[in-house]
Amino acid sequence: MAKIIYSEKFERYTYGVNHPFRLDRGRLFLNSAARLSILNSSDVIVVDEGNEGDLKLFHTDKYIEILKKANDGEIEAEFLQYGLGLPDNPVFKGVFDLVLLHAAMARKAFMELQNSDRIFVPVGGLHHAMRNRASGFCYINDLGILIELLLRENKRVFYIDIDAHHGDGIQSGFYDNPMVLKMSFHESGKTLFPFSGFEDEIGIESGRFFNLNVPLNCYSDDEVFLFLFKKIFVPIIERFDPDVTVAQIGVDMMSTDPLTHLRLTNNSYIEAVKIIKDKSKRLIAFGGGGYNPDNIARGYTLAWAVLNDIEVDDYYTATLGGTFMGSQELSIGSLKDMNLFVSGPEKEVAMEEAVRIYNYYRENIFPFFKLE
Ligand SMILES: [Zn+2]
Repeated sequence: MAKIIYSEKFERYTYGVNHPFRLDRGRLFLNSAARLSILNSSDVIVVDEGNEGDLKLFHTDKYIEILKKANDGEIEAEFLQYGLGLPDNPVFKGVFDLVLLHAAMARKAFMELQNSDRIFVPVGGLHHAMRNRASGFCYINDLGILIELLLRENKRVFYIDIDAHHGDGIQSGFYDNPMVLKMSFHESGKTLFPFSGFEDEIGIESGRFFNLNVPLNCYSDDEVFLFLFKKIFVPIIERFDPDVTVAQIGVDMMSTDPLTHLRLTNNSYIEAVKIIKDKSKRLIAFGGGGYNPDNIARGYTLAWAVLNDIEVDDYYTATLGGTFMGSQELSIGSLKDMNLFVSGPEKEVAMEEAVRIYNYYRENIFPFFKLE
């Protein structure tokens, strides 16, 4: 049985009225899934209290101290060097209480693995936060905390990130560690924050070859993404054979996302989520980014269906005949996007670049994994 880890307390917080990161993203998803009758109250595990000790698993004491000071919402000059108080990561009242809640999600997901082999944490996936600094809407790294908990039990972890942004906080946090294989698919750092995640950033020391980046050119579409995803993710996860997969399944690769420049639809997104699920013995998926509310509600609902082995095609019919069409919150009746075919020179360049990346993997990465 798949489980959701959540707290309604997230809905109390906001980064500010003009900030693109919505903390009611979990609510958008839960309402959508409930409306389709694929959510029972017993599916949701509520966690309301976090503890500082869990932050220490990934973050420095000094940074935690700074976050705690920021909890009253007053900015101090010292905060800026920790990425706090900048437009991406504003200081607001309760920011430390919020990060404790994120840490609590990670801890509970770890504990829940004893009972469930598929877990979804809709609010989280804060992959930019560094051990000593906030970055890119991420104050702490809940994924990093979870991975640290898993490593302490000697689990082999595969981290897969399909958010449009490079998972730089996870890369940096475990760059020399071969026990966690880190793989991030994202829009190229040539055009998008955090301007890193190139294919030759492959880890150091014993962690060499255990950090893998698959950058996509802007205008990459479903075909380009799935070409690389199937050719790179599938053979490498099969060879690495992890005990646990940790996934960051942000929904900002879509063509309708306001912050990114890719041309995907949720058709390839959900196919990737299905492949991740099929290749994982145990899977903990975090929601991640996504700045279009429709994409959050529909993408996470599709992902939840996949985690429950419900055929997503069922939904098309269900939504047409059900109450979903009358939704006030969502503008579209179907969960799945219309197909979007990109053509012309932009598509050609994106595909040529994808072939170049694939060839890079065949020449430089696959031999290490004894793959062809
Ligand atoms: Zn993102």
